[in-house]
Amino acid sequence: MTDCIFCRIASREIPANLILETDTLVAFHDLNPQAPQHVLLIPKKHIATLDTAGDEDRAILGELLLNAAEIARRLGFAEAGYRTVINCNQDGGQSVYHLHVHLLGGRALRWPPG
Ligand code: 5GP
Ligand code: ZN
Repeated sequence: MTDCIFCRIASREIPANLILETDTLVAFHDLNPQAPQHVLLIPKKHIATLDTAGDEDRAILGELLLNAAEIARRLGFAEAGYRTVINCNQDGGQSVYHLHVHLLGGRALRWPPG
């Protein structure tokens, strides 16, 4: 998947401001942050959307969320609060078709989202 920007970040072909790398995932700062803290967590495996994730991806989906919580604690905004978001397909506002979790914090977030 060399035409996928997040695969290229995961393989270090394209630079990103990395926060964490494990066997299965990479976390880095969003290029266009929507909050004072805006981290993206992606699986190293190319999964296009949450809708195309399968049974075989249960472990990685768990890893993405648990590592998001860990990063929020490590960056110091877990107690104040944060939001995790997975945009799926067009109506969900997905623009990069490689599954990713947004971790947003550092300010009060409104609800409902736009
Ligand atoms: P989506 O809209 O698909 O849920 O989120 C894609 C996110 O990826 C956006 O927040 C966008 O700013 C971020 N993004 C897109 N390209 C890059 C990139 O090359 N590097 C980084 N760090 N973030 C990116
Ligand atoms: Zn990809």
